[in-house]
Amino acid sequence: MAKVSSTEKEIILIAPCGMNCGICSSYLAYSRNIPKKRGKVGHCIGCRPRNKKCVYIKCHCPLLSNNSIKFCFQCDHFPCERLKHLDERYRKNYGMSMIENLKIIKLDGMEKFIKNQNKKYMCLKCGAKISVHNKICYDCKK
Ligand SMILES: [Zn+2]
Repeated sequence: MAKVSSTEKEIILIAPCGMNCGICSSYLAYSRNIPKKRGKVGHCIGCRPRNKKCVYIKCHCPLLSNNSIKFCFQCDHFPCERLKHLDERYRKNYGMSMIENLKIIKLDGMEKFIKNQNKKYMCLKCGAKISVHNKICYDCKK
């Protein structure tokens, strides 16, 4: 199989809050055709592709809602209280920081960020992505 650059697809998976939907268990389950199980395995096509208002931030943010900004770091109030709450939850539960992600994107650019993400969340067995939520690789199930 030829290796195609999936950068555009990967960029679309970076949510306004700095979450990489590409390592979200719901996205991985959906994109790998893992059977949906109520309350167990969620399915999601990613925050941006879904284009639904994010319950954590977008519902409450006029700038994101009307597309004035694409990422939270473009806001004068970055990081706002809501983002800080979300960030705290993720740092505590999953060892990941949205705010750090956004700072890296702002500083180094999207391409570098995605490259590092791919390295950081790569399955050592098969090279696919592992989930930030449960550390499972949905390709080889390790
Ligand atoms: Zn794997």
